[in-house]
Amino acid sequence: MGKKSAIEWTDETWNPLGGCSKISPGCKNCYAEKMAARLQAMGLPLYEGVIGADGHWSGRINLGDQELMKPLWWRKGRRVFVNSMSDLFHEGVPFEFIDQVFAVMALCPQHTFQVLTKRPERMAEYLRSGDGVASREECIAMSSPQDLNGRQVLFGKRKGPFDGPANEKYDVRPWPGWPLPNVWLGTSVENQAVADERIPALLGCPAAVRFLSCEPLLGAVDIRQYLQKTTRTHFSICVDGALRNKSFDGFTHDGGRWMTREEAKAELLRLQAEGVQLLPMGACEGFSSETGCPGHPQPRIDWVICGGESGKDARPMHPDWARDLREQCVDAGTKFFFKQWGEWAPHRPVPGGNLGGDVRSGRVRIVHPTGESDLEIFDRTGGRNTIPGSQYMGKVGKKASGRVLDGRTWDEMPGGGVGGGRTRTCTDDRGGVA
Ligand code: SF4
Repeated sequence: MGKKSAIEWTDETWNPLGGCSKISPGCKNCYAEKMAARLQAMGLPLYEGVIGADGHWSGRINLGDQELMKPLWWRKGRRVFVNSMSDLFHEGVPFEFIDQVFAVMALCPQHTFQVLTKRPERMAEYLRSGDGVASREECIAMSSPQDLNGRQVLFGKRKGPFDGPANEKYDVRPWPGWPLPNVWLGTSVENQAVADERIPALLGCPAAVRFLSCEPLLGAVDIRQYLQKTTRTHFSICVDGALRNKSFDGFTHDGGRWMTREEAKAELLRLQAEGVQLLPMGACEGFSSETGCPGHPQPRIDWVICGGESGKDARPMHPDWARDLREQCVDAGTKFFFKQWGEWAPHRPVPGGNLGGDVRSGRVRIVHPTGESDLEIFDRTGGRNTIPGSQYMGKVGKKASGRVLDGRTWDEMPGGGVGGGRTRTCTDDRGGVA
């Protein structure tokens, strides 16, 4: 299949909606906003009114019924970046429309869909909610559109609501399972504060593969705790029952140490305040009356993309931020993809060159690991870069800067593509997977 997107980690982009609004520092130089302004000026309905008179997002969201169906037309399998020009989980996108997007993804097992959001809290809210009657999985199964022949597509078997045979009115497809095996969910991370806010929300989403896009990377980020393999052990009784009967002498910490009565009580009260209802031990997969709960793998991040910012006003990425992320991934066995340096690349001053002039003109910047940059350091040090750890970065453009990090390209991806993720069945009501 020919690659149609210039984005290194995908083959194709799919934009079933238009419009967005800025939400965090990573949005400052949003390329989609500039592109949408052009598409609006060209009269494309999907972008009508999404850019205001000031040249920025107006906050309007347009839903594209035609665009929604596009992946059904692509017969050959490909990696599809969902909403490269917006955010599927923007507050202005109704859950019913997101159901239709997921239904299309369920209908296209030949593709791998890469859903990237800066709003993982809303993504988690969506995935964990239903419409009051049906679960989210059932809502999606009932939202399927017409197929290419104009027949209503219905999902049959297991979670699918339809039981009858295919005929001239109905095209019956098998329900692929939940979470959808061909849908990867990701969130953008640009600094530590954003990482600590968004990654737990992503980990709370049921997904075949969970990934991070650390671009534009604006600071050092420590994500070790989200990359590690961990397990959790279940308690043996429901919270309400335990509190009512005061029968909680037998609880242990996840590490296996018995809880004291006071610790168990505090833990149960905390869980109850959170609204958590735990499964009875007998419903826990692998439970044995002799050895108890076997412990269950916890969700973790499967893939990390790293990149610097591109475009006219791009901010430079210190090489140590990228190196450190790579090392964290290598240590944890997590797939790492170095997408680009972006506008700025590491710069080695030429002996006898005009470094001061280059810095003052903005062609070269000095970036410190803390994020402090160029003239602040340059002026303070009298024209010499003597701050430990600081790095000269040259503004050379995305093409020239390339995507080699310390002598090699990093193109790792989760294995297997479609169906390459992990699913688990022993559930509690916090994240859908345990
Ligand atoms: S969420 Fe994405 S598309 Fe929306 S403003 Fe931010 S960078 Fe742009």
